[in-house]
Amino acid sequence: MIVMKFGGTSVQDAKAIDRVAHIVQGRLADRPLVVVSAMAKVTDSLLAMGKAAGSGDRKTALKMARALRERHYDTAGELLGTALFTEFHGDLGADFEDLDELLRGIGAVGEITPRTYDYVASFGEVLSSKIVAAAFVARELPGAHVDSRQCLLTDNSYTRAVPQVEETSERLRRRVQPLVDAGKVPVMGGFIGSNAAGITTTIGRGGSDFSAAIFGAALNAQRIEIWTDVDGMMTTDPRLCPDARRIKTISFDEAAELAYFGAKVLHPATVLPAIQKNIPVYVLNSQNPTCEGTKITARAPRTRNIFKAIAAKKRITIIDVAAPRMLLAHGFLKAIFDAFDRHGVVVDVVSTSEVSVSLTVDSNEAIPELAADLAKLADVKYEGRKAIVCLVGENLRDTPGIAAKVFGILEDMKIRMISQGASEINLTFVIEEDDAAEVVRRLHQAFFAEADPEVFG
Ligand code: ASP
Ligand code: MG
Repeated sequence: MIVMKFGGTSVQDAKAIDRVAHIVQGRLADRPLVVVSAMAKVTDSLLAMGKAAGSGDRKTALKMARALRERHYDTAGELLGTALFTEFHGDLGADFEDLDELLRGIGAVGEITPRTYDYVASFGEVLSSKIVAAAFVARELPGAHVDSRQCLLTDNSYTRAVPQVEETSERLRRRVQPLVDAGKVPVMGGFIGSNAAGITTTIGRGGSDFSAAIFGAALNAQRIEIWTDVDGMMTTDPRLCPDARRIKTISFDEAAELAYFGAKVLHPATVLPAIQKNIPVYVLNSQNPTCEGTKITARAPRTRNIFKAIAAKKRITIIDVAAPRMLLAHGFLKAIFDAFDRHGVVVDVVSTSEVSVSLTVDSNEAIPELAADLAKLADVKYEGRKAIVCLVGENLRDTPGIAAKVFGILEDMKIRMISQGASEINLTFVIEEDDAAEVVRRLHQAFFAEADPEVFG
């Protein structure tokens, strides 16, 4: 069997869901389990309703719920046609009655707790999974809706509940496997689960990929397909460099290095349960289903190209902390990092010498206060408008002379910090923000002009 997960944009309206049905139809022989996100933007609007109700604004909350109801009714009506929709209408209607009642309750109390936020948010996936299952049936696909809350057991940390993988796997084998065996296509919402007391939980924003990976790992899927609205992961940002190519296959470790650079496609950490079981994960485009996408595997095949991708991130600030007599003093680095911690500022690249430490952070308002705090320990300077460039590839590990080649290409550029990650598969450095596009283009030209056709599209 396989798991096919469709994100919010892939189920955003009737046309998109119709495309999903076609894509699934074409995979029936692989015995798919389908996991869906809420329709695009629905989770955001549910959370906004909860917030409005929680601040006592019941009217706004109910008005938003009405708009949501219409959107789902319109979509279902368009997908099902009048006769089927009339039959299905009551089921959806009951959910919307529950949502209204919930919002009234929250409004009456004038307060919303994380537990209640989860209940409100869960409607998105509950509704989308029911509509997609019904649309399948209307198209003579053997869709069978399964309420994920009866399968995905989590702990009690509402809004970021932690899946209990063993019991969840057991339940999936008991309830979902027989459906697959009987030739049905189970349709389940991602993101939602319930705790041991049966109370609805969610596993964190963007959690549907994680649900798909857990389900696939539990049922020993042959592969997991993450259907989204881009062709997969790219060698670099096509907006910076029009020559960017699609990466056909990438290792989990390489994908993880790129995650920080806003590879919004998918956060690799969420598919770890699948990778750990050696199940390949594909990123595919529901608007361009014949494109092969990107395959993420535990180990990437050997390739001639040293790098898989070049990522760049702008809006970076460098903070230099210099203390000629203090750096070697025991506890000094700890004191620096404690200051970052106190201000809630996340550090990305770090490089140190005997007398100074340079760190990068995403530019943000907390920096002046943080710098003032650091100034109690040492001399501090900070400078914005920098960019981080990161070259990623497993071949970096055992190819000599790479740094010379990279920096040779950039010999006229001002390089501010250099760091080769402990993972040995990334080479990272910091440059002036205004140079970012030029640097990426030059490196891309040097390292991808001759791209291995096995690995790059
Ligand atoms: N609908 C949820 C969200 O928007 C989960 C997901 O789409 O993965 O965060
Ligand atoms: Mg997502």
